[in-house]
Amino acid sequence: RTVYVNGEYLPETEAKISIFDRGFLMADGVYEVTSVIGGKLVDFEGHSARLQRSLNELDMANPVTMDELLAIHRALIEKNQLDEGGIYLQITRGAPADRDFAFPDPDETPSSLVLFTQVKNLVNALAAQKGIKVISIDDLRWTRRDIKTVQLLYPSMGKMMAAKAGADDAWMVEDGKVTEGTSNNAYIVKGGKIITRKLSNDILAGITRAAVLRLAKEAQMVVEERSFSIEEAQEADEAFVTSATTFVFPVVEIDGKAIGSGEVGSVASRLREIYIEESLKTAL
Ligand code: PMP
Repeated sequence: RTVYVNGEYLPETEAKISIFDRGFLMADGVYEVTSVIGGKLVDFEGHSARLQRSLNELDMANPVTMDELLAIHRALIEKNQLDEGGIYLQITRGAPADRDFAFPDPDETPSSLVLFTQVKNLVNALAAQKGIKVISIDDLRWTRRDIKTVQLLYPSMGKMMAAKAGADDAWMVEDGKVTEGTSNNAYIVKGGKIITRKLSNDILAGITRAAVLRLAKEAQMVVEERSFSIEEAQEADEAFVTSATTFVFPVVEIDGKAIGSGEVGSVASRLREIYIEESLKTAL
């Protein structure tokens, strides 16, 4: 694979970042994952807008312009002949001369920028046909989950807890209500209504969430933005998750209890179809 590191395109084995990089030492960085279908980017505009917001919230500089960022994405797709998968982008607060809690002067220490491609079956993902099983766990993350930082230790632990329990993923719960999945937004369907937590600092504003809710409303489906508990989810007709690299995955089991019929639900399937159709049309 050819990867991008601070202005250079290099074979992945030759790409290097300093051991003093604050991403490495302090998880002082933000990221985005943009999916690619048919060699084109899905909702690059949404991802770049959220990236800028994450950077602003952390007072971190973007080392390139958004136009340059788009050109780098396109160059990596081209160099790696990527047809379907994702592009991972990370900006960290660079590598000062020594380790220090205080932010370095941005004029002396520029941010680091890294991008690489990942091949993955998105449209024909197995989980879309089978659905996924989730467990619930306490949400032990910090409370600025609206910023897409690279602090992913707890979500990683959540995926490990899920695997240990024979499940595919975990939904996190705070004050008795589901916040989100370890790497996706969480939804239930009840009486035809699509229910998902409203945006706040408690969850990440998913780019896929925004698109799916817009498409649902355009298709005359009813959307209710509010919190729900695991117990309510277990009694729902359907449940599902959304993210850039899963699109829409049905959830067929929560903490060992089958949801609805225990089969993939019709609302989740329809939303997945509409979302893919729209993405194929609008990818750039
Ligand atoms: N919540 C969390 C915690 C995530 O990590 C992700 C994936 N980045 C999402 C939600 C979904 O966001 P998106 O649709 O932009 O991928």
